[in-house]
Amino acid sequence: MRKTKIVITMGPALQDSSKLREILLEADAVRLNASHGDPESRAQVLSAVRALGVELGRHIPIFLDLQGPKWRIGLLDEPVLLEVGSVGVLYPPAMPTPIGFAWAAPLPHPELFEAAKPGQIWLLDDGALKLEVIQSTGAQVTTKVLVGGLLKARKGIHPVGLDVAMDPLTEKDLADIEWGVRYDVDLFAQSFVRGPQDVRQLQDIIKQHGGSQPIIAKIEHPLALAHLEDILEVSWGVMVARGDLGVELGVERVPGLQKRIIRAARKALKPVITATQMLESMITNPQPTRAEASDVANAIWDGTDAVMLSAESATGQYPVEAVQWLVRIALEADFQQQRGTDSIQRELATKIHGRADISVAFSACRTAEEIQARWIVAFTEGGGSARMVSRLAGKIPVLGATTDLSSARRMGLLRGVKALIIPRVESSDEMVEALRELLLAHHELNPGDQIVMTMGLPLWKSGSTNTMKVMGF
Ligand code: PEP
Repeated sequence: MRKTKIVITMGPALQDSSKLREILLEADAVRLNASHGDPESRAQVLSAVRALGVELGRHIPIFLDLQGPKWRIGLLDEPVLLEVGSVGVLYPPAMPTPIGFAWAAPLPHPELFEAAKPGQIWLLDDGALKLEVIQSTGAQVTTKVLVGGLLKARKGIHPVGLDVAMDPLTEKDLADIEWGVRYDVDLFAQSFVRGPQDVRQLQDIIKQHGGSQPIIAKIEHPLALAHLEDILEVSWGVMVARGDLGVELGVERVPGLQKRIIRAARKALKPVITATQMLESMITNPQPTRAEASDVANAIWDGTDAVMLSAESATGQYPVEAVQWLVRIALEADFQQQRGTDSIQRELATKIHGRADISVAFSACRTAEEIQARWIVAFTEGGGSARMVSRLAGKIPVLGATTDLSSARRMGLLRGVKALIIPRVESSDEMVEALRELLLAHHELNPGDQIVMTMGLPLWKSGSTNTMKVMGF
């Protein structure tokens, strides 16, 4: 069983339903990027993924990644080539395209026309393109290209050193949150989180709309690193958002920060997704580079739960092949999982004192390893104990047994966890019996196998793991 989970970002490359079907045979989770597309097409994508999940018998979580306070280029009919040394212009989308420049691109952020000053460096597309501001008239910004390439629609802009205050949740985010609750996404990912207060604000807004979706905090803002532990405390999980992390803090700092963020998540027993440029060359090539394969494997050995594809699956030429390569690399990396990984986890876990549920989960995982159990089964309503056990389980695979479909789907992001829907019963004996029948029916057990279970008694009370049980077959 592959333990590392794979997240794909939806986009035009997956419009073809047979391609979507093929990719969902392997991918474990789906990211809808609110920075692209419109609500109507997003709704179609969401229902296509849901329908395929049912057809394929897979619990696939869908999360909506909110754009957050990020400046972006406007819509373009087609990509614009920025040649090094050429002078081009950024202009308000409501104005006619200025003429007399090597290139022109719309910029839907009036505050940037005010803030632009000659000599400023503007990074575009996660730093792939670099412009120098030559002149700003307040109505358009003239720039010279320092690092060139193809500029695509809606790519991010990062003016270096410019500190213009932006609300943590923009008008667009508010509309997208309402959409996400209405369409019952499984989680939200929040961009540019600076501290726990940003996550709480989003939680409140989700609640106001009648939702209860948990939040993946994207770690990409310098302030988030200063408040990492507090952010982990209030969020469901985190994402190492390496694109903006590299822009904000320097590409050379990304490897070390990735290790730090993953370690903090493991210590907090929360899941973590490692994202961006995992198989970047596969946007245009059918094979990854050796460096990319090493990067993916190292993220896995750092202890990431999931690896994520962005443009590779959304707009690339080889989305299915990219997932198939992730599967191959992950299987090998999972198999080679360094022994050290388990002991780091133990060391981290034993530092968390005074919580009965963690203690019980930890003991169950230890017992499972000592008796070489076939499964650790975490009975879980909201999914919290599956999340915790996933972090502590080491080599033994975990079954997250729940009655709740959304909880089951979210397990698609948890390392080494497979979801199992169980009927709602009244007693723990009935529950164990139901589990026995399901495992036998699904051929998940052989004669002589043992399983270790964690549960909370009384049943169906969230966050109350207090019991461990061993069962033989
Ligand atoms: C990132 O910055 O790495 C990221 C995942 O966020 P986005 O794709 O929204 O820029």
